[in-house]
Amino acid sequence: MSETLSCDDRGVIVVCSGCDTGNRIAYSRIGQKGRCGTCGKDLPAISQAVDITSSASFDKLVADSPLPVVVDFWAPWCGPCQMVGPEFSKAAKQAAGEVVFAKVNTETQPAIASRFSVRGIPAFALLENGAVVRQITGARMAAQLLEWIRQS
Ligand SMILES: [Zn+2]
Repeated sequence: MSETLSCDDRGVIVVCSGCDTGNRIAYSRIGQKGRCGTCGKDLPAISQAVDITSSASFDKLVADSPLPVVVDFWAPWCGPCQMVGPEFSKAAKQAAGEVVFAKVNTETQPAIASRFSVRGIPAFALLENGAVVRQITGARMAAQLLEWIRQS
């Protein structure tokens, strides 16, 4: 199983545990139960971080997702980001069905990072209905991330 889920400008790709077929879950249907289009088995909840590979996908995700979205801004050269990666994945598993976790590589997606005025990484942003609720900079453990996400 790969560490992150892929996506396109229409939805997140979830692999069926029954037949290994990739199924697209439309961004507007995130958090709802879905079935595999090939074998009919219930699809797993989104419990892994989604790897954002374009601005179009990012915009659609944050605009359409019924669940809040937390973004991890990272880069391959950033040491603390490598430590945060597994913690972010752990938090994604623990908050499955509650929040969607998305990873933005600031090297390949500088346009998204600049919109959030990201200067230091790792940095995190929490969005609801397409709007930023809060942002923080600096490494966080999974428990700290979840606490930060869940504070009202
Ligand atoms: Zn299937």
